[in-house]
Order: sequence, then structure tokens, then C-alpha cells
Amino acid sequence: MAATSFLSLSATAADSHVHGELQLQLVQQGATLAVRLESPLANLVSFEYQPVDAEDKLKLNQVVSQLKNTAWLETTPAQCDAQQVQVSYSWQSGTVEASEQSAHHHDDHDHDHDHDHDHDHDHDHDHDHDHDHDSQHASVTMEYELLCDSGEFGDISVSLFSVLPALKKVQMQWIAERGQGAKTLTPDEPGFKL
Ligand SMILES: [Zn+2]
Repeated sequence: MAATSFLSLSATAADSHVHGELQLQLVQQGATLAVRLESPLANLVSFEYQPVDAEDKLKLNQVVSQLKNTAWLETTPAQCDAQQVQVSYSWQSGTVEASEQSAHHHDDHDHDHDHDHDHDHDHDHDHDHDHDHDSQHASVTMEYELLCDSGEFGDISVSLFSVLPALKKVQMQWIAERGQGAKTLTPDEPGFKL
């Protein structure tokens, strides 16, 4: 039941990769909550490529372990604890390393930009782009199972904004026994009623 509900939520949230925003889905059944967080990596760290050096790996791991602790999901009156957290990454890249030599980025998303450089005068510029990995994107998906001390829920506050300073909006969707809903959460309005 929960899995089916999740799929229907996911379908509407698919393909959204907007820096500064993340998707949060919650399914409540009795005293259990299933929560799925999907975010561009750019909301967590300053890069969107698979970390190769120790410093990048450390930065990413630090933020991910902060997110694994569900203290950012404040529920009342029920109190919940994460029983299980699954983390997966999606690296939407693969061609950037090979493109250093070529001015034509077949898989580049900056198409308008490339058109301006059809004649290749601006080689240096293109190289800069490869360097900041602008043309690749990556996302992280975290799936939580929370067990709560009751099935009584009222206000829920999502305090992810203090954990992730780059985050401006949370696209919240939920399915609860009482009904389902959706709301855009912001630092000024981080809560909703389940
Ligand atoms: Zn991105």
C-alpha cells in the first residue's frame, strides 16, 4: 500500500532538478512514516560530480550524515525515530572528461550558450566550463523509515533549511490516513499539517 502510494507521488516529482529546491515525500500509515528526499547535490555541497578526492568525499559524507539524522523532521505530538535510511546517488554525467579536447558538447545542457560559440573563438571559456562541471548534474535520494510512538500527527516542521543553507524551497507532498496534500515549504514557512 505504502509502496503504491509512493510510486504515484514519485511520478509527479520526476525530472525535477532545480538547484535550491528539493522534493520531499511522506507517506503515513499508523505510527510509521516513509519519507523520501530527493535533492540536487548542489544543495548539499558546491559540486555535482562524483567526488574523487578525499576533501570532496568528506564534505559530502558530512552533509549526508547530518541528513540521515531526522532531527530536521519535527513531528507533533507523535515522536519518531528513523529505523532505516537508504542513500543513493545519481550521477548524470559521463561525457565531460572526454570533452576537454572538443568544442562540441553533444550532451551539454547549455545549448544556447554553445550556439554562441559555434566558431570556437572562445576556447578558454569552454574549458572553464568543463572545469566547473557546469554541464553535469547529480542528485541524492534518501529514503527513510520512521517508527513513531503514536499515529497522532498534527503540525510537521521541516527544518532542512538550517542544515542546507543553499536550499530555498522544499516541494512537499504527503499521503496520510487523513488525506493527501502538497505544499511548497520555505524558510519562512517550513511547516504543514498532516
Ligand atoms: Zn544540478
